[in-house]
Amino acid sequence: MLLKGKKGLIFGVANEHSLAWHIAKQVHAQGAEVILSVASERFLRKVGPLAERLGAPTPIICDVADDDAIAKAFAEIGQTMPKVDFLVHAIATAKREDLQGRFVDTSRDGFALAHDVSTYSFLALCRAAEPLLQKGASLLTLTYLGAIRAVPSYNVMGVAKASLESSVRYLANDFGPLGIRVNAISAGPVKTLSASVVKGFKDKVDIQQVAAPLRRNVTGEDVGKSGLFLLSDMASGVTGEILYVDCGYNIMADFITREV
Ligand code: NAP
Repeated sequence: MLLKGKKGLIFGVANEHSLAWHIAKQVHAQGAEVILSVASERFLRKVGPLAERLGAPTPIICDVADDDAIAKAFAEIGQTMPKVDFLVHAIATAKREDLQGRFVDTSRDGFALAHDVSTYSFLALCRAAEPLLQKGASLLTLTYLGAIRAVPSYNVMGVAKASLESSVRYLANDFGPLGIRVNAISAGPVKTLSASVVKGFKDKVDIQQVAAPLRRNVTGEDVGKSGLFLLSDMASGVTGEILYVDCGYNIMADFITREV
């Protein structure tokens, strides 16, 4: 059991397809106790039964765009889980109209929203969790290739992910002296609620299937298992890292899609 006796917080389970849920299942199978968090009361109906499957308490409600909500959530968490060994941030949002068309047309408030919810919230959660974090703790977020390449339609989310990846390095530097690690998984496309909002999502899946070295799409289970690795002591020397879990797609030059 890689995480026997470990306790952690998982933000961003919307349903059984969520990458956060796949990570939650893996860490639970390795002995961890978890608390899940949802954005609003509306999602409790769906996520409550998932939490029960892990023997976890009723999920905490926390809109990560709201500092008061974060403070309230951590006051509640502190009562049931005063010591935390890991935190997973699997949260992103942008206006639907900003995930199609041209990046240059992104509105000021659309740009701010994507960065606030998808990037700033990671810092905010890490800071709120700090008093509870144990030496050896591991903090993890989720990113995508659109951070370093121009992926059509991903647009403002790619720019927010670039900021998130940079934040991982600065947070790793902040938390390293405390013995706390900070990393990200850059996942290939997996069909989830958020992913399906990006225009042309199916094309990305189809291309990866033929162009990735492993000649298949990544699965939620692949992401969950790599999450387990980074959250466990197996990754004790890894921090500030962006781990690609995409069947190798990121290493390829794009002409390969025309060769297969
Ligand atoms: P998902 O199941 O839709 O999860 C996204 C989560 O973000 C939902 O639980 C959503 O909660 C939450 N969220 C949005 N706004 C929030 C807010 N203000 N406060 C609290 N929670 C909020 O989609 P997913 O694909 O698993 O996404 C998880 C992470 O993986 C994201 O960072 C995403 O960018 C990243 N990622 C996904 C893929 C992919 O292909 N799926 C690839 C690479 C990276 P509600 O539903 O309750 O609003």
